[in-house]
Amino acid sequence: MKPIYRCRVCGAFTEDQYHCGKQAELLLDPGSRVRLSKLMSGLLRYYPWGLD
Ligand SMILES: [Zn+2]
Repeated sequence: MKPIYRCRVCGAFTEDQYHCGKQAELLLDPGSRVRLSKLMSGLLRYYPWGLD
């Protein structure tokens, strides 16, 4: 999974490390994205409302 960066110049979110010709700020590293998605699927399993 790719990290997510935020452009320091225009504020856009991007998966590219550079935006607007400058290095973007690392917002979410791949490990965090995996943990987040696991947390989300875990929550859905644990609280299975609204799944029908
Ligand atoms: Zn930009």
